[in-house]
Amino acid sequence: MAGAMSDVFSAVVGQEHAVGLLRHHAAHPVHAYLFVGPTGSGTAEGARAFAAALLCANQGCGECDSCRRVLSDSESDVTWVTRHGLNWSVSEFAEAERISRRRPLARFQIVILEDIQLSDGQTGKLLKILEEPPTNAIFILTAENLPESLVTVVSRCVEVPFVALSEEAIVDYLVRDGYATLAARAAAAAAAGDLRRARVLVRDRAFSDRVHLWQSLPDTLNGTHATSARVVKEIFEALDVAVEPLEEIQKEELQRLIDNAKSVGLRTVTGRKDIETRHKREVRRFRIDDLRFGLRSLADVYHQRLIAGLEGMGDKDPRATSQTQAAVTAIELISDTSQRLSVVNEELLLTNLIVHLANV
Ligand SMILES: [Zn+2]
Repeated sequence: MAGAMSDVFSAVVGQEHAVGLLRHHAAHPVHAYLFVGPTGSGTAEGARAFAAALLCANQGCGECDSCRRVLSDSESDVTWVTRHGLNWSVSEFAEAERISRRRPLARFQIVILEDIQLSDGQTGKLLKILEEPPTNAIFILTAENLPESLVTVVSRCVEVPFVALSEEAIVDYLVRDGYATLAARAAAAAAAGDLRRARVLVRDRAFSDRVHLWQSLPDTLNGTHATSARVVKEIFEALDVAVEPLEEIQKEELQRLIDNAKSVGLRTVTGRKDIETRHKREVRRFRIDDLRFGLRSLADVYHQRLIAGLEGMGDKDPRATSQTQAAVTAIELISDTSQRLSVVNEELLLTNLIVHLANV
């Protein structure tokens, strides 16, 4: 396995088991794969690397023209099908099928669909494709989790599990990438196994200010409308700053794709519009994740108050019961807000939460 350290799979961090499976399958592929792993575990990087390995004469050397084309998303035999709405639609699955029936220029027609857990139970069409796949087609599906509705789809695929990265693995990666150990630790601790998020946070100079903003809320809120409105405004201003490092990373990645494409004689990246759609979706996703993280930091403060209140009740402190009750109410409100974040307008939700918290 000469050159294994620098081949296409080196982009897949901390997933030795998955990479081992994929190396094996690159030489003996079947028709369909399902990469299952939480956000930031690298399923997209895994899909790109595996596609490159499938088409490369050397199982993914990372250096040949074929590898370069795949790694720059410019290989015509590899298609990332775009999901336009919140969930996959039947017509998008039909589009995937149409692409899979194209005759490949080289060995395989590879079709990639990400986040297929977002299919709202409409997996019949997908299942049908997987039951009778075209001879040269290989499907790479990814999912963050496996809802009941996907059980039959799973049965048609080789499942490749991706694990949430350990804090240590993330710290190692960031330190190797040139960041100071202390900054790497803070980012890894806040990223909950999501390498992508850790890479954004480690560049984020306003990160600790944002944590402080959330944690100081219980003391800031005084029940006046003006204060609540100001706090909501501050949260969303901080959020706009928080996505800047992600947008920087996306710009760098797009540039790398373009450079890669140029190195094989292309003018630019073929699927540029789709890449931009994916980037916008990722930004939206990051905002939600960051709000959830903020809400968790806020809930921590009320948890501490709850514990202090319970201790006070033991000591027969007369204020302890109401303090405990207020903390419980606050924690419930925060948890409810966090759960509804991705389906309801977040500014509305947050405003509502802040107004209620000010009165507990
Ligand atoms: Zn190659």
